[in-house]
Amino acid sequence: MLRVCNLEETRKLAALLGRFLRPGDFVALTGDLGAGKTTFTRMLCESLGVMQAVSSPTFTLLNEYYTDQGVPILHGDFYRLEDAEAQAGFPELEEMMASHKAIMLMEWADRLPQYQGDWTWRLDFGFDPETEAARQVTITAADAARLQTLLEGLNDGR
Ligand code: ADP
Ligand code: MG
Repeated sequence: MLRVCNLEETRKLAALLGRFLRPGDFVALTGDLGAGKTTFTRMLCESLGVMQAVSSPTFTLLNEYYTDQGVPILHGDFYRLEDAEAQAGFPELEEMMASHKAIMLMEWADRLPQYQGDWTWRLDFGFDPETEAARQVTITAADAARLQTLLEGLNDGR
């Protein structure tokens, strides 16, 4: 578990993860309302050179942006997902997963458990019990070696 004390630290973590992301990566962002999923997503997209405004796709459920390298980013937010929708799944998302062309950033990804096996990264956001501006982030990765490299980058302050 990492402690991100303020927005500046969140930004650093987002930029670091951004350097590790590859097309085909599925980043699951979990945690309660206000824990910082959208803030992190916005910072991550900024670090990847996204020019579009990044906000939670409340009604469309999936937004698409492009990095400055032309890589598509699919941003989902499944907070308001109905049970039937959850069961039906998301063909657009599945297409992107199959093609390995996009980076997928999915808030409330845990509401679509059928995709759990496809997550390459999981970031779990929580509130720090001590300070209001601080958050706790738990990062896990399907690939232990990639996680290890990320954590080393964090320690190096790079
Ligand atoms: P979520 O998408 O998880 O519901 P948001 O990112 O929309 O959460 O909201 C998080 C709120 O908490 C924002 O207003 C943000 O400025 C604030 N915040 C305070 N401290 C932090 C921090 N260290 N990291 C991320 N967000 C923080
Ligand atoms: Mg959000």
